[in-house]
Amino acid sequence: MNLNSEKFPLRPAWTEIDLGKLRRNLQLIRGDLPRAVRLLAVVKDEAYGHGALDVARIAVEEGAWGFGLSTLEEAMTLREGGIKAPLLLLGERQEAELEWCVAHDLTVCVNEPHAVRKLAKLAADLGKRVPVHVKIHTGMSRYGARWDEALPLLQQIVAEKSLLLEGVMTHFAQSDETDKTFANLQFTRFGEVLQAMEHAGIPVKLRHTCNSGGFLDLPRAHLDMVRVGILLYGVFPSTVCRKIAGIEAVMSVKAKIAAIQKLKPGEVVGYGMRYTAPTERRIAILPIGYGDGFPRVRNEGCALIHGKRAPLVGGIAMDALMVDITDIPEAKMWDEAVLMGKQGNDEITVRDLAKLKNSVTYDVLTNWRLRLRRKAVNGHPKPAVQLERVGG
Ligand SMILES: *Cc1c(COP(=O)(O)O)cnc(C)c1O
Repeated sequence: MNLNSEKFPLRPAWTEIDLGKLRRNLQLIRGDLPRAVRLLAVVKDEAYGHGALDVARIAVEEGAWGFGLSTLEEAMTLREGGIKAPLLLLGERQEAELEWCVAHDLTVCVNEPHAVRKLAKLAADLGKRVPVHVKIHTGMSRYGARWDEALPLLQQIVAEKSLLLEGVMTHFAQSDETDKTFANLQFTRFGEVLQAMEHAGIPVKLRHTCNSGGFLDLPRAHLDMVRVGILLYGVFPSTVCRKIAGIEAVMSVKAKIAAIQKLKPGEVVGYGMRYTAPTERRIAILPIGYGDGFPRVRNEGCALIHGKRAPLVGGIAMDALMVDITDIPEAKMWDEAVLMGKQGNDEITVRDLAKLKNSVTYDVLTNWRLRLRRKAVNGHPKPAVQLERVGG
Protein backbone atom coordinates (compact mmCIF):
# COMPACT_ATOMS: atom_id res chain seq x y z
CA MET A 1 0.00 0.00 0.00
CA ASN A 2 1.35 3.41 -0.91
CA LEU A 3 0.65 5.60 2.10
CA ASN A 4 1.98 8.63 0.26
CA SER A 5 -0.57 8.35 -2.49
CA GLU A 6 -2.88 11.31 -2.83
CA LYS A 7 -5.82 8.93 -2.60
CA PHE A 8 -4.89 7.49 0.78
CA PRO A 9 -7.26 9.18 3.23
CA LEU A 10 -5.48 11.40 5.74
CA ARG A 11 -6.22 10.72 9.37
CA PRO A 12 -8.14 13.64 10.97
CA ALA A 13 -5.00 14.60 12.91
CA TRP A 14 -1.79 15.67 11.18
CA THR A 15 1.22 17.95 11.15
CA GLU A 16 1.19 20.65 8.52
CA ILE A 17 4.52 21.80 7.13
CA ASP A 18 4.34 25.18 5.42
CA LEU A 19 7.18 25.01 2.91
CA GLY A 20 6.43 28.56 1.80
CA LYS A 21 7.26 29.79 5.29
CA LEU A 22 10.37 27.60 5.32
CA ARG A 23 11.49 29.23 2.06
CA ARG A 24 10.85 32.69 3.48
CA ASN A 25 12.80 31.88 6.67
CA LEU A 26 15.71 30.67 4.55
CA GLN A 27 15.60 33.87 2.50
CA LEU A 28 15.56 36.01 5.65
CA ILE A 29 18.45 34.06 7.20
CA ARG A 30 20.46 34.12 3.96
CA GLY A 31 19.75 37.84 3.64
CA ASP A 32 20.90 38.48 7.21
CA LEU A 33 24.21 36.66 6.68
CA PRO A 34 27.17 38.32 5.00
CA ARG A 35 27.46 36.95 1.45
CA ALA A 36 30.80 35.27 2.06
CA VAL A 37 29.48 33.19 4.97
CA ARG A 38 28.14 29.81 3.91
CA LEU A 39 24.94 28.32 5.32
CA LEU A 40 24.92 24.72 6.49
CA ALA A 41 21.26 23.81 6.99
CA VAL A 42 20.98 21.40 9.90
CA VAL A 43 18.37 18.81 8.96
CA LYS A 44 19.11 16.02 11.45
CA ASP A 45 16.19 14.08 12.93
CA GLU A 46 14.05 14.52 9.80
CA ALA A 47 14.75 18.25 9.77
CA TYR A 48 13.57 18.56 13.37
CA GLY A 49 10.43 16.65 12.41
CA HIS A 50 9.64 18.68 9.26
CA GLY A 51 10.69 16.08 6.67
CA ALA A 52 14.36 16.25 5.68
CA LEU A 53 13.99 15.75 1.94
CA ASP A 54 11.34 18.45 1.46
CA VAL A 55 13.39 20.84 3.57
CA ALA A 56 16.65 20.02 1.80
CA ARG A 57 15.21 20.56 -1.69
CA ILE A 58 14.02 24.02 -0.74
CA ALA A 59 17.20 24.88 1.15
CA VAL A 60 19.28 24.02 -1.93
CA GLU A 61 17.15 26.41 -4.00
CA GLU A 62 17.58 29.11 -1.36
CA GLY A 63 21.35 28.94 -1.28
CA ALA A 64 22.31 26.47 1.45
CA TRP A 65 25.84 25.19 0.85
CA GLY A 66 25.24 21.81 2.46
CA PHE A 67 23.47 19.91 5.22
CA GLY A 68 24.23 18.85 8.77
CA LEU A 69 22.96 15.42 9.80
CA SER A 70 23.41 12.97 12.57
CA THR A 71 23.08 9.42 11.26
CA LEU A 72 24.03 7.48 8.12
CA GLU A 73 20.36 6.74 7.46
CA GLU A 74 19.54 10.43 7.53
CA ALA A 75 22.31 11.20 5.07
CA MET A 76 21.33 8.35 2.73
CA THR A 77 17.72 9.58 2.63
CA LEU A 78 19.01 12.82 1.14
CA ARG A 79 21.49 11.16 -1.23
CA GLU A 80 18.81 8.78 -2.50
CA GLY A 81 16.41 11.71 -2.84
CA GLY A 82 18.86 13.29 -5.27
CA ILE A 83 20.57 15.83 -3.02
CA LYS A 84 24.10 16.33 -4.37
CA ALA A 85 25.22 19.02 -1.92
CA PRO A 86 27.82 18.27 0.79
CA LEU A 87 26.37 16.26 3.69
CA LEU A 88 28.26 16.71 6.95
CA LEU A 89 27.70 14.06 9.58
CA LEU A 90 27.96 15.77 12.94
CA GLY A 91 29.02 13.65 15.89
CA GLU A 92 31.25 10.62 16.00
CA ARG A 93 31.37 7.75 13.48
CA GLN A 94 32.04 4.13 14.28
CA GLU A 95 34.92 2.88 12.16
CA ALA A 96 32.56 0.39 10.53
CA GLU A 97 30.62 3.32 9.05
CA LEU A 98 33.58 4.99 7.36
CA GLU A 99 33.70 2.82 4.24
CA TRP A 100 30.06 3.60 3.53
CA CYS A 101 30.66 7.30 4.06
CA VAL A 102 33.56 7.34 1.59
CA ALA A 103 31.57 5.37 -0.98
CA HIS A 104 28.59 7.76 -0.81
CA ASP A 105 30.49 11.03 -0.42
CA LEU A 106 29.27 11.70 3.10
CA THR A 107 31.60 14.05 4.93
CA VAL A 108 32.58 12.97 8.42
CA CYS A 109 34.20 14.57 11.42
CA VAL A 110 37.35 12.73 12.47
CA ASN A 111 38.55 13.58 15.91
CA GLU A 112 40.92 10.78 16.70
CA PRO A 113 44.17 9.40 15.13
CA HIS A 114 43.03 5.84 14.51
CA ALA A 115 39.94 7.00 12.58
CA VAL A 116 42.15 9.33 10.52
CA ARG A 117 44.40 6.42 9.44
CA LYS A 118 41.43 4.20 8.68
CA LEU A 119 39.64 6.88 6.65
CA ALA A 120 42.83 7.76 4.77
CA LYS A 121 43.36 4.14 3.78
CA LEU A 122 39.76 3.69 2.65
CA ALA A 123 39.98 6.85 0.58
CA ALA A 124 43.32 5.84 -0.95
CA ASP A 125 41.97 2.38 -1.84
CA LEU A 126 39.12 4.02 -3.75
CA GLY A 127 41.43 6.55 -5.35
CA LYS A 128 39.57 9.42 -3.73
CA ARG A 129 40.61 12.58 -1.93
CA VAL A 130 38.08 12.82 0.85
CA PRO A 131 37.16 16.07 2.62
CA VAL A 132 37.05 15.86 6.42
CA HIS A 133 36.13 18.18 9.26
CA VAL A 134 37.69 18.16 12.70
CA LYS A 135 35.58 18.97 15.69
CA ILE A 136 37.42 20.82 18.40
CA HIS A 137 35.93 20.61 21.85
CA THR A 138 36.46 23.99 23.47
CA GLY A 139 34.71 23.36 26.77
CA MET A 140 31.43 21.62 26.04
CA SER A 141 33.05 18.21 26.66
CA ARG A 142 30.97 16.34 24.16
CA TYR A 143 32.44 15.25 20.82
CA GLY A 144 35.81 16.39 19.54
CA ALA A 145 39.50 16.76 20.21
CA ARG A 146 40.45 19.05 23.10
CA TRP A 147 41.41 22.54 21.95
CA ASP A 148 44.78 22.35 23.73
CA GLU A 149 45.65 18.96 22.21
CA ALA A 150 44.27 19.24 18.69
CA LEU A 151 47.30 20.32 16.65
CA PRO A 152 48.94 16.88 16.20
CA LEU A 153 45.65 15.49 14.88
CA LEU A 154 45.37 18.33 12.36
CA GLN A 155 48.98 17.75 11.28
CA GLN A 156 48.29 14.05 10.86
CA ILE A 157 45.32 14.80 8.58
CA VAL A 158 47.29 17.24 6.45
CA ALA A 159 50.02 14.61 6.01
CA GLU A 160 47.53 12.11 4.56
CA LYS A 161 47.44 12.56 0.78
CA SER A 162 44.00 10.98 0.45
CA LEU A 163 42.40 13.37 2.94
CA LEU A 164 41.58 17.04 2.55
CA LEU A 165 41.14 19.06 5.72
CA GLU A 166 38.04 20.94 4.64
CA GLY A 167 36.75 22.18 7.97
CA VAL A 168 37.51 22.82 11.61
CA MET A 169 34.62 23.46 13.92
CA THR A 170 33.53 23.85 17.49
CA HIS A 171 30.14 23.90 19.15
CA PHE A 172 28.85 26.31 21.79
CA ALA A 173 27.42 25.02 25.06
CA GLN A 174 25.39 28.23 25.42
CA SER A 175 25.09 30.77 22.65
CA ASP A 176 21.53 32.07 22.96
CA GLU A 177 21.46 33.41 26.54
CA THR A 178 22.24 36.98 27.54
CA ASP A 179 25.42 35.96 29.34
CA LYS A 180 27.97 35.18 26.62
CA THR A 181 30.92 34.62 28.98
CA PHE A 182 31.32 30.93 28.30
CA ALA A 183 30.67 31.27 24.57
CA ASN A 184 33.37 33.93 24.43
CA LEU A 185 35.79 31.68 26.30
CA GLN A 186 35.06 28.86 23.86
CA PHE A 187 35.59 31.18 20.91
CA THR A 188 38.91 32.36 22.35
CA ARG A 189 40.06 28.75 22.71
CA PHE A 190 38.99 28.03 19.14
CA GLY A 191 40.94 31.10 18.04
CA GLU A 192 44.06 29.65 19.70
CA VAL A 193 43.68 26.51 17.58
CA LEU A 194 43.27 28.58 14.41
CA GLN A 195 46.37 30.58 15.27
CA ALA A 196 48.40 27.45 15.94
CA MET A 197 47.26 26.12 12.57
CA GLU A 198 48.37 29.28 10.87
CA HIS A 199 51.81 29.06 12.50
CA ALA A 200 52.09 25.43 11.44
CA GLY A 201 51.04 26.32 7.88
CA ILE A 202 47.88 24.20 7.95
CA PRO A 203 45.29 25.61 5.55
CA VAL A 204 41.56 25.06 5.99
CA LYS A 205 38.62 26.25 3.92
CA LEU A 206 35.76 26.25 6.41
CA ARG A 207 36.05 27.40 9.99
CA HIS A 208 32.66 27.13 11.66
CA THR A 209 31.30 27.51 15.17
CA CYS A 210 27.76 28.93 15.15
CA ASN A 211 24.43 27.20 15.68
CA SER A 212 21.25 29.32 15.49
CA GLY A 213 22.08 31.13 18.73
CA GLY A 214 25.60 31.93 17.57
CA PHE A 215 24.36 33.01 14.15
CA LEU A 216 21.96 35.47 15.78
CA ASP A 217 24.07 36.78 18.64
CA LEU A 218 27.76 36.20 17.91
CA PRO A 219 28.45 37.75 14.50
CA ARG A 220 32.22 37.79 15.07
CA ALA A 221 32.04 33.99 15.35
CA HIS A 222 30.40 33.46 11.94
CA LEU A 223 33.80 32.87 10.28
CA ASP A 224 33.30 30.90 7.03
CA MET A 225 30.04 29.06 7.69
CA VAL A 226 27.16 28.87 10.18
CA ARG A 227 25.24 25.71 11.07
CA VAL A 228 21.63 26.74 11.47
CA GLY A 229 18.97 24.32 12.66
CA ILE A 230 15.98 25.40 14.69
CA LEU A 231 15.78 28.92 13.25
CA LEU A 232 15.14 27.52 9.75
CA TYR A 233 11.97 26.06 11.16
CA GLY A 234 10.87 29.43 12.48
CA VAL A 235 11.60 28.90 16.16
CA PHE A 236 14.07 31.16 17.96
CA PRO A 237 16.53 29.22 20.12
CA SER A 238 15.69 31.35 23.18
CA THR A 239 13.46 34.20 24.25
CA VAL A 240 16.38 36.60 24.77
CA CYS A 241 18.35 36.13 21.52
CA ARG A 242 18.22 38.66 18.66
CA LYS A 243 15.05 38.39 16.58
CA ILE A 244 14.75 38.60 12.80
CA ALA A 245 11.41 40.09 11.80
CA GLY A 246 9.31 37.90 9.53
CA ILE A 247 10.63 34.51 10.67
CA GLU A 248 7.60 32.27 11.19
CA ALA A 249 7.02 28.78 12.57
CA VAL A 250 6.84 26.23 9.74
CA MET A 251 5.04 23.39 11.53
CA SER A 252 1.46 23.32 12.80
CA VAL A 253 -0.37 20.43 14.43
CA LYS A 254 -4.04 20.07 13.63
CA ALA A 255 -6.95 17.73 14.29
CA LYS A 256 -10.64 17.67 13.46
CA ILE A 257 -13.46 17.43 16.01
CA ALA A 258 -14.38 13.72 16.01
CA ALA A 259 -17.16 13.77 18.64
CA ILE A 260 -19.09 16.28 20.72
CA GLN A 261 -20.45 15.46 24.20
CA LYS A 262 -22.95 17.47 26.22
CA LEU A 263 -22.28 17.21 29.95
CA LYS A 264 -24.69 17.85 32.78
CA PRO A 265 -23.37 19.41 36.01
CA GLY A 266 -21.42 16.83 38.03
CA GLU A 267 -20.57 14.57 35.06
CA VAL A 268 -16.92 13.69 34.48
CA VAL A 269 -14.48 13.47 31.56
CA GLY A 270 -11.84 10.88 30.67
CA TYR A 271 -9.57 8.38 32.44
CA GLY A 272 -9.29 8.92 36.16
CA MET A 273 -12.34 11.26 36.10
CA ARG A 274 -9.97 14.24 36.31
CA TYR A 275 -12.56 16.83 35.30
CA THR A 276 -16.05 17.33 36.68
CA ALA A 277 -18.41 19.67 34.86
CA PRO A 278 -19.38 22.52 37.20
CA THR A 279 -22.29 23.54 34.96
CA GLU A 280 -23.67 22.31 31.65
CA ARG A 281 -20.69 21.95 29.29
CA ARG A 282 -20.09 21.16 25.66
CA ILE A 283 -16.95 19.08 25.08
CA ALA A 284 -15.20 18.37 21.77
CA ILE A 285 -13.14 15.21 21.37
CA LEU A 286 -9.99 15.58 19.22
CA PRO A 287 -8.49 12.32 17.91
CA ILE A 288 -4.89 13.07 18.94
CA GLY A 289 -3.12 12.11 22.15
CA TYR A 290 0.16 11.53 23.93
CA GLY A 291 0.75 8.64 21.52
CA ASP A 292 1.15 11.33 18.86
CA GLY A 293 3.55 13.38 20.90
CA PHE A 294 1.16 15.77 22.62
CA PRO A 295 2.33 16.46 26.20
CA ARG A 296 0.70 14.13 28.73
CA VAL A 297 -1.31 16.82 30.56
CA ARG A 298 -4.46 17.07 32.68
CA ASN A 299 -6.73 20.13 32.67
CA GLU A 300 -3.92 22.20 31.10
CA GLY A 301 -3.36 23.63 27.65
CA CYS A 302 -5.86 24.37 24.91
CA ALA A 303 -6.77 24.05 21.26
CA LEU A 304 -7.78 26.83 18.87
CA ILE A 305 -11.19 26.36 17.29
CA HIS A 306 -12.78 29.12 15.18
CA GLY A 307 -9.84 31.24 16.33
CA LYS A 308 -10.82 30.90 19.99
CA ARG A 309 -9.14 29.06 22.86
CA ALA A 310 -10.87 25.86 23.93
CA PRO A 311 -9.33 24.71 27.24
CA LEU A 312 -8.28 21.09 27.58
CA VAL A 313 -10.32 19.24 30.21
CA GLY A 314 -9.59 15.95 31.93
CA GLY A 315 -6.50 13.83 31.31
CA ILE A 316 -5.21 13.34 27.77
CA ALA A 317 -5.31 9.74 26.47
CA MET A 318 -3.05 7.95 23.98
CA ASP A 319 -5.32 8.76 21.05
CA ALA A 320 -7.69 11.48 22.23
CA LEU A 321 -7.99 14.68 24.14
CA MET A 322 -11.01 16.66 25.21
CA VAL A 323 -11.54 20.42 25.01
CA ASP A 324 -14.33 22.61 26.37
CA ILE A 325 -16.22 24.35 23.53
CA THR A 326 -19.08 25.71 25.62
CA ASP A 327 -18.03 29.25 24.68
CA ILE A 328 -17.61 28.39 20.99
CA PRO A 329 -21.23 27.60 20.04
CA GLU A 330 -20.40 27.65 16.31
CA ALA A 331 -18.05 24.65 16.72
CA LYS A 332 -19.38 21.52 15.02
CA MET A 333 -18.32 18.01 14.00
CA TRP A 334 -15.15 17.80 11.83
CA ASP A 335 -14.26 21.45 12.34
CA GLU A 336 -10.51 22.00 12.35
CA ALA A 337 -8.71 22.54 15.65
CA VAL A 338 -5.13 23.79 15.96
CA LEU A 339 -3.01 22.24 18.73
CA MET A 340 0.17 24.03 17.69
CA GLY A 341 0.30 26.98 15.33
CA LYS A 342 -1.93 29.86 14.27
CA GLN A 343 -5.66 30.12 13.78
CA GLY A 344 -7.43 33.43 13.34
CA ASN A 345 -5.55 36.01 15.36
CA ASP A 346 -4.31 33.60 18.01
CA GLU A 347 -1.36 31.23 18.15
CA ILE A 348 -0.25 28.30 20.28
CA THR A 349 3.52 28.41 19.98
CA VAL A 350 6.06 25.61 20.09
CA ARG A 351 7.31 27.26 23.26
CA ASP A 352 3.82 27.09 24.83
CA LEU A 353 3.84 23.33 24.29
CA ALA A 354 7.43 23.05 25.57
CA LYS A 355 6.25 24.63 28.83
CA LEU A 356 3.39 22.13 29.08
CA LYS A 357 5.87 19.33 28.46
CA ASN A 358 8.44 20.71 30.91
CA SER A 359 10.92 20.63 28.10
CA VAL A 360 12.48 22.60 25.24
CA THR A 361 11.19 23.59 21.80
CA TYR A 362 13.64 21.19 20.11
CA ASP A 363 12.03 18.29 21.96
CA VAL A 364 8.50 19.36 21.00
CA LEU A 365 9.36 19.68 17.28
CA THR A 366 11.18 16.37 17.01
CA ASN A 367 8.78 14.27 19.04
CA TRP A 368 5.59 14.39 17.02
CA ARG A 369 5.11 10.78 16.01
CA LEU A 370 4.98 9.72 12.40
CA ARG A 371 1.49 8.30 12.73
CA LEU A 372 0.55 11.97 12.50
CA ARG A 373 1.28 12.18 8.82
CA ARG A 374 3.02 15.24 7.49
CA LYS A 375 1.07 17.34 5.08
CA ALA A 376 3.40 19.67 3.19
CA VAL A 377 1.73 22.82 1.87
CA ASN A 378 2.88 25.77 -0.29
CA GLY A 379 5.83 23.76 -1.55
CA HIS A 380 5.85 24.51 -5.23
CA PRO A 381 6.37 28.11 -6.19
CA LYS A 382 9.45 26.81 -8.08
CA PRO A 383 8.01 23.56 -9.40
CA ALA A 384 10.42 22.57 -12.17
CA VAL A 385 12.55 20.09 -10.25
CA GLN A 386 10.18 19.25 -7.46
CA LEU A 387 6.99 18.16 -9.20
CA GLU A 388 8.50 15.16 -10.93
CA ARG A 389 9.97 13.93 -7.67
CA VAL A 390 7.02 14.36 -5.34
CA GLY A 391 5.50 11.01 -4.50
CA GLY A 392 8.09 9.28 -6.67
C1 LIG B 1 22.18 20.41 16.06
C2 LIG B 1 23.43 21.14 15.80
C3 LIG B 1 23.41 22.44 15.29
C4 LIG B 1 22.13 23.25 15.07
O1 LIG B 1 21.70 23.80 16.29
P1 LIG B 1 20.44 24.81 16.34
O2 LIG B 1 20.45 25.32 17.73
O3 LIG B 1 19.25 23.98 16.05
O4 LIG B 1 20.68 25.85 15.32
C5 LIG B 1 24.64 23.04 14.98
N1 LIG B 1 25.79 22.38 15.19
C6 LIG B 1 25.86 21.13 15.70
C7 LIG B 1 27.17 20.48 15.90
C8 LIG B 1 24.68 20.46 16.03
O5 LIG B 1 24.74 19.24 16.54
